Order: sequence, then structure tokens, then C-alpha cells
Amino acid sequence: MKQLSNQELIKYFKKIRKDFPILKQKVHGKKLVYVDNGATAQKPQVMIDSISDYYSKYNSNVHRGLHTLSEKATSEYEKVRTKTANFINAKEEEIIFTSGTTAGLNLIANGLLDKIKKDDEIIISEMEHHANLVTWQQLALKTGAKLKYVKVLQNGELDFKQAESLLNKKTKILAITHISNVLGTINPIKKIIEIVKRKTNHKCLTIIDGAQSIGHMPIDVKKLDCDFFVFSAHKMCGPTGIGIVYGKYSALEKITPSIYGGDMILEVEFEKSSFNKIPFCFEAGTPNIADTIAFGTVIDYLSNIGMKNIEHYDKILTKYFLDEIKDLEKNYGFHFYGPKAISKKSAVFSFTIDGVHSHDISTILDKFGIAVRGGHHCAMPLTNSVMKVVASSRISFYFYNTISEIDYIINCLKKVKSEFDKGEFLF
Ligand code: PMP
Repeated sequence: MKQLSNQELIKYFKKIRKDFPILKQKVHGKKLVYVDNGATAQKPQVMIDSISDYYSKYNSNVHRGLHTLSEKATSEYEKVRTKTANFINAKEEEIIFTSGTTAGLNLIANGLLDKIKKDDEIIISEMEHHANLVTWQQLALKTGAKLKYVKVLQNGELDFKQAESLLNKKTKILAITHISNVLGTINPIKKIIEIVKRKTNHKCLTIIDGAQSIGHMPIDVKKLDCDFFVFSAHKMCGPTGIGIVYGKYSALEKITPSIYGGDMILEVEFEKSSFNKIPFCFEAGTPNIADTIAFGTVIDYLSNIGMKNIEHYDKILTKYFLDEIKDLEKNYGFHFYGPKAISKKSAVFSFTIDGVHSHDISTILDKFGIAVRGGHHCAMPLTNSVMKVVASSRISFYFYNTISEIDYIINCLKKVKSEFDKGEFLF
């Protein structure tokens, strides 16, 4: 689809809601306002139909049988590898299917176990999701490598000066999120990758956690020049249980398969085995066929809308919400975390309200039909040590959210605060 103007985008995305059956329902008698998209996005009917289609028409294992159903399943499954490669400007053999971002990051870290040595250094940031933190913490513990953190400034951005001072010849891994799932910070990863490559003489692997960015903007891994880019289908309207590791071919050659079994082998003898070629050596066992094929329909669905249109509409919602929260911060005791500059902020808003616990906020908003998340958002060090709170509430938008939903949310947030102040809880 062509690129639309602001007014055209608002109109277009208002109509798109009809593609999502779940959004038609009411919760506690109120129209569902789903703004927990940072956790998982809702699913269009085409994707749901595709799962049913596979199981009712050609359920069969892939890569093995020579019968009609298996050939159809294999062909549909492998088409998704091509679609995924085209979606992010990669080559087919650079796409590994896994079960999600978490599994993908573990696949890379476990694959580097025999490469990382004592005294090597791994750099991550203080804003990482546990999936991109505990994984490297464990690799450091197992190998004796040193784990270093890029600091997060009070404005929610990475401390570039400090980051540069961490880099040296011992740096072997930089693993960083593209967009923070708590602060909504859009990290300038292209610039970061450039600096890292230059300062480490191209010896450091750059690993990008793309869980929060893949569904919200066009991604071109060649332009980014990252070694790995990892994401989950469920954050971009796809099913749960399917994720992607993009690896530059030369980077994939550096990691060792760590899950063994069928499909990942070439020859097996009693004493030894040889492994299949990249990417199949990283895909042992029966894969998640139905969900992978359904993910393919979602790639088509999003591509048809246009990732530039989605990115642009995200900015419209983000700008509108940023304007609205000024009053909440000034007059209602709200604190919103993360950047306030539109170019550095995605549609993810974490906040606290003076005197109100985040779990109470979620429960009360649920009574208004609004689905938000409360807690540490799988980023405990960030929540506790940088934001210095126990928990926060998070509103995260996607393209089926509307300006009128934002107006409704803002009104409800004001009610939450005033009812709490009066001691009249809305339960
Ligand atoms: N990284 C980030 C930034 C995320 O937001 C998430 C999901 N909340 C993950 C990693 C983990 O993704 P998954 O649970 O799909 O493996």
C-alpha cells in the first residue's frame, strides 16, 4: 500500500479493527481497550484461519515424508523462511526458526559457550529485558567473561559517553535492545553498531533484541549491519511459539549448534555425527509448523499495510499521548518514564502514580475495559535500580488503537487518581 498522510492513516487504522475479532468484545460491560501490546499483540482473522487451515487440510511433518501432505506442509513452511528474509532484507539461509526471542537469544549464547573465554568482555545495557540479561549473565558466569553494563540516564536514554569507554579489544559481544519494553526508548542501534565495530576492530558480535521494534517499523538488517537480530512473531500479530534469529552468515558460522536431534544432522554413526548445513543445524526436532505458516500470513498482512505506515501511525499515537500526559504529570501526581522526544520514543509508556500501587492501577483500569500491564515488566534491574520503583504500570499501543481510545484512557487515569485520593476505590 502507498504511504498515507496523517489524516488518511487515522481513518485507515480506525477501520482495521474489524480484522481483529477479539477487539469486538466487552470486558466488565465496557468496550475492550487493549493496550498491553508490549506483552503480546492481537491477531487478525487471516492468521487465525491459517492455523485452522493447516490442521484441517494438510497437517503433516516437514522435511521428511515424500507424500503429498508432507510436501505441501514443507513447501508452505519453507516459503515463510523466504518471506521472513524479504521482510528484513536478509538471505533465506540467514533465518533460523526458534520459539521466540528468549529461545533465540539463548540459542546464540549457548552457541558461543566454546568461543567466549575468561577475560573476554560482554556488554549489555541496564535497560535489557531479562531475556537479554540473564542469558549473558549466565554465559559470563560459565566462561569467566566479564559482564559490563551501559548506563541508562535519567531521561531514559543510554549513556553514550560511558558506553564508548567500555569498549576495548576484549569486547566480544554487545547485546542490546532496539526498543526498551519499559521506557519505550528507541536506541540508535545503527550508530551503536558502527561505533562498536570500529572500536573493536570488527571482532565484537553485535546482537540486537528486536522484540519490541520488529512489528513497529521497517527493519533492514543489511543497513543496520548487525550480526544478529532476534524477534518473536507474537509481538507483530503472529502466533506465540515462533520466533526468528537472523544471523549474518559469517556470524552463524561462529556459533555451534546446542540442541541435538533429528533434522539438524547430516550423517549419524554410533560414535559420531555430522551436522546439517546452516540454518538447519540450528533447528533440531519437529518445528512449530502451524504457527510458522500462520506467521507467514502475518508477514503478508503487515507488508500489505506497509511497515512505514505502521511506523508513522505509531508516531501519531505517541505524539498525541505525550501531549496528553503533560497534564497528568503536572496536576495528578503521575510520573512517566523514558524519553519525551518523539524521535527517541516508541508507543510504550510506563508510569507510576503517587500513592497508588501499579497492581491496583491495572485492576481498576480492567474494570473500565482497559488492559494494561503492571509489575517489573521482566526488567527488574531497570525498575529497581534505575527507575527506583518496585513496579510500574505500562500502556503500549499498536496500530488498531485509536485517538478516541487515548482520550478514554486519559479520563479513566484521572478517575483512578481522584478516587484513590478520596479513598473511594472503584472495585
Ligand atoms: N526482549 C524484549 C525487549 C521483550 O519485550 C520481550 C517480551 N516482553 C522479550 C525480549 C522476550 O520475548 P519472548 O517472551 O517472546 O521470548
